Amino acid sequence: MNEFEDKVVVVTGASRGIGAAIATAFAKGGAIVFANYPGADAEQHRLHIEQWREEAGLDEGRVIPVQGDVADSDQVAQMFETVRSQFGELDILVNNAGIKRDHTVRKMTDDEWRQVMQVNLDGAFFCCRSAIPLLRECGRIVCISSVVAHTGNFGVANYAASKAGLLGLTRTLALELAARNITVNAVCPGFIDTAMVGDMPADVVEKMVAQIPLKRLGSVQDIASTVLFLASMAAGYITGQAIGINGGLYRGN
Ligand code: NAP
Repeated sequence: MNEFEDKVVVVTGASRGIGAAIATAFAKGGAIVFANYPGADAEQHRLHIEQWREEAGLDEGRVIPVQGDVADSDQVAQMFETVRSQFGELDILVNNAGIKRDHTVRKMTDDEWRQVMQVNLDGAFFCCRSAIPLLRECGRIVCISSVVAHTGNFGVANYAASKAGLLGLTRTLALELAARNITVNAVCPGFIDTAMVGDMPADVVEKMVAQIPLKRLGSVQDIASTVLFLASMAAGYITGQAIGINGGLYRGN
């Protein structure tokens, strides 16, 4: 039997990149995955999800596209109501949706600061709050933070602050949900080969790779495999942790 057979999973920001890889891996492991996408360009996002589902050879019923801007608490509540009305309970939540709006602090606008906090941090809070009443005993929450939560990086104060905040949310929720045997962990990816890094100038990416001891960008599968481990029964004694997945770039925790 597959590890995640018929487990109900919500992955936010699953139309592409790391979220799509995590959702695919869960669905291949037998789960029923609600693949969240934001409200803008909804039809386009839905098509992206249909596309990766078909490419992965997954049946329609295994991957359910579900619209909802994670930065909007009403839309998030509606999304989890959809989950509740179809399946009653939830096994796993992955808070993956994220954006960046880079500028040095000196040049950063109020909007750039707020938008990143709203999607990356408020979004995870709204999703956790709505998921908690639905989560089964031994449920799992995994948050996608970032190496820059620990290290900071030039021009990403809003992003780094949101990702560091996510670690505070993770550690606190681990305490609040321990009595129900629900574990809450974060992963902190380094530089991963998605649009988020692909948008950077090639020479910048080259310099980044030169600093990584394993001398390559991470792949979306590198992240998905760790998330699935944390969501598995084998990881039942791991909670409140932040796991680095960064090719050795940062070696603390
Ligand atoms: P990506 O390719 O930009 O994908 C982000 C996903 O989040 C997209 O599907 C995006 O939808 C969705 N999203 C954005 N705003 C949303 C909202 N308000 N509501 C719902 N969904 C929303 O990024 P990625 O590289 O896969 O990153 C995924 C996560 O990993 C993010 O949290 C990111 O911060 C984190 N991370 C990435 C790296 C990296 O190097 N790539 C490193 C560390 C951490 P759209 O298609 O509309 O944009």
